[in-house]
Amino acid sequence: MQGRWILLAALTPIVIVIACSSPKQYGRKPLRDYSSPRASSTSYSGRPVSSTSAAAMLAQVRLVRDFVPKGRHSRRRHRPMRPRYITIHSTQNYSGDAYAHARAMKRGAFSVSWHYTVQDNVAIQHLPTNEQGKHADFDGPGNRYSIGIEMCEHRGNNRSRTLDRTAKLTAYLMKRHNIPITNVVPHYHWPRRGKRPPNKNCPHFLMTNGRPGAKWYAFRNQVNRYYRAIR
Ligand SMILES: [Zn+2]
Repeated sequence: MQGRWILLAALTPIVIVIACSSPKQYGRKPLRDYSSPRASSTSYSGRPVSSTSAAAMLAQVRLVRDFVPKGRHSRRRHRPMRPRYITIHSTQNYSGDAYAHARAMKRGAFSVSWHYTVQDNVAIQHLPTNEQGKHADFDGPGNRYSIGIEMCEHRGNNRSRTLDRTAKLTAYLMKRHNIPITNVVPHYHWPRRGKRPPNKNCPHFLMTNGRPGAKWYAFRNQVNRYYRAIR
């Protein structure tokens, strides 16, 4: 996410501090060619993925739709989108689960918005995928053309199950919108004009020294395995 979340509701049950806050540990220039696929020996799942339908893949995601009301808050202006990318984030919110983020977004507690929040046992959809969110790069292509997925980090949430559920959701969305694996990107991919550093260390637990490395490619390989399993 970009910038600080503005907390408008005093009674919010979750303590929202900063989403995907910008780290300061950038020593080298960001690489721009990281999107070329690489084999990874550090994949967190070596299990074969059996062939399945898109509907069955979505059923495994356990998706709950809980949209921000049309015409309100982040949907006040209709901003249509034909998604060409999928952007992966993590919340960096260590207290709020997916349900808390859904409630907060519905009552307009955030200055930002995104499409899905995933935790270990459920994924919640906040916006339709044919509408833009505000999660990547202000008025840049990350917001204009990408579906935003946030992964939860609250205490007690199982990270590997969250990653696996996110990988399945991403694979389903690739199939649904005809998006290639090279267009599945971390938030890092989208430079934010006027920000230092422009490329955010997000999702931080999949970055290596603040940029895509072995952990990111292991995740992306898992997404691709699920994608190829969809008939
Ligand atoms: Zn982010």
